[in-house]
Amino acid sequence: MDIYEEVKSAATIGISGHIRPDGDCVGSVMGLYLYLKKVCPDAKIQVMIEKPADVFSCVKGIDEIHTDFVSDVKEFDVFFALDTAKDRLGEAEKYFDEAAKKINIDHHISNKGCGDVNYIMPEASSTSELIYDVIADKSLLDEEIAKALYIGIIHDTGVFQYSNTAPSTLKAAAELISYGFDFPKLIDKTFYEKTYLQNQILGRALLESIVFMNGRCIVSMVDKKTMNFYDAEPHDLEGIVSQLRNTKGVECAIFMYQTDTLEYKVSLRSNGKVDVAKVAAFFGGGGHVRAAGVTMQGTFHDIVNNLSAQIAEQL
Ligand code: 5GP
Ligand code: MN
Repeated sequence: MDIYEEVKSAATIGISGHIRPDGDCVGSVMGLYLYLKKVCPDAKIQVMIEKPADVFSCVKGIDEIHTDFVSDVKEFDVFFALDTAKDRLGEAEKYFDEAAKKINIDHHISNKGCGDVNYIMPEASSTSELIYDVIADKSLLDEEIAKALYIGIIHDTGVFQYSNTAPSTLKAAAELISYGFDFPKLIDKTFYEKTYLQNQILGRALLESIVFMNGRCIVSMVDKKTMNFYDAEPHDLEGIVSQLRNTKGVECAIFMYQTDTLEYKVSLRSNGKVDVAKVAAFFGGGGHVRAAGVTMQGTFHDIVNNLSAQIAEQL
């Protein structure tokens, strides 16, 4: 796919990604935005995602995002759903539905493609790597586009650690860092650095974690009261599930935080034996083989019981 060919006649272009945007969502959305602004200078281009975490303020154009999902355009000529199917676009879903041409670019195995044009590559490291792919003329890349896409790639590969890192990923990253931005600082500031508050909750979640199935599973939870006590947002909890997964002997890690009286947002991570995309999909969620998520109803214990039954079947 050459993305310019898909949009060259559009006067209005919308770009969105999933709710609770992570690094890959922000990187792919902003990388595409910065690129389209260059190649379609006369088009009206709007980005609509929820407010990204403060660590992404280093990305050019981030302050131009319509985080309120308000637009004077009702029917975009082209609308992009990135890093998700349309069901997790949140308030942007209505713009996607109304658009004359819908384009879906994603790397989630659970996404079967929801656009008129679909570019779904489950083996790709990240949607940001896919945006790099669809920029056919690489001479149009620049430092700011490269930075956005690089952020997306490092976040979804755990800084090139996870098994989704392919030779193509490293080749893309090699070209991106040739634009000269300070990549060690970018990795540190957007990926590793935690606020004192984030570290405190991480510590607490580790302290309160429980291992079961002979140490092959681990679970931890943060309830609403704790979130309120620390004045924490969902993005403050990122990374907890990866730390749980690092526990020796663990095949599958579960982390959840409470979103309502009887509702939890669940994150699942696997070391490869358990296909957590399958587990999440069973309960209406999705994701990748080694990293998936789902929103579930019930008490903490109900949810752990339901998940364990599915995990045990695979183990
Ligand atoms: P996380 O646990 O970091 O929120 O998400 C892990 C992976 O699963 C990400 O690729 C994310 O996009 C996907 N994911 C998380 N929650 C859901 C969900 O509720 N539905 C679907 N389809 N995918 C999810
Ligand atoms: Mn992604």
